[in-house]
Amino acid sequence: MTVQQGLLTIPARRGRALSLKAGEAVQIINTHGSQVVDTWVFNTEDITEFLSSEHMRATLGKLWPGKGDALITNRRRAIMTIEEDTSPGQHDTLIAACDSYRYSLLGCTEYHDNCTDNLHAAMRQIGLVAPECPSPLNLWMNIPVAEDGSTGWGEPLSKPGDYVILRAAMDCIVVMSACPQDMVPINGAACTPTEVHYRKLPVAE
Ligand SMILES: [Zn+2]
Repeated sequence: MTVQQGLLTIPARRGRALSLKAGEAVQIINTHGSQVVDTWVFNTEDITEFLSSEHMRATLGKLWPGKGDALITNRRRAIMTIEEDTSPGQHDTLIAACDSYRYSLLGCTEYHDNCTDNLHAAMRQIGLVAPECPSPLNLWMNIPVAEDGSTGWGEPLSKPGDYVILRAAMDCIVVMSACPQDMVPINGAACTPTEVHYRKLPVAE
């Protein structure tokens, strides 16, 4: 896709935080098509309230949210809504953010970039301390669930330029991590994490 005005970059393997007022939105773009973006949302007024996958699944009655669905907090309130989604809409809510323990188990003997550290670094960049690493909304992460309940590690179903628009239902902080996973093909068969782009959108008219 052509790079549009106002676009900001999340470099491959890195995270960024963005502050939104109620009514504003963020457009998150899968620029190269197969990058998973771990996403967290915190209530600006009280960051111990945040998007919670387990509360969201209870409210929505399904495993992952789609266009038109609200993202629900640990206090069972809508914090954002998925206003637009041009992808096939597989956005995992089951798998924890990757962390140093995950990469150790995969055989890494040295430091490996990970989404958990990206969350904490992105929050520090805006002067905040994340209360914990909540279970993220894993945009474009394709975790197929079989009838017997077993899960797999799929490749993203998205294509270059697919995007989601998340609109804030309250003042909130959105943290996005371009997942550095390069040991299982969750970011595509090439196992090559890439940059993604995002931009803030104004209150809808
Ligand atoms: Zn990750």
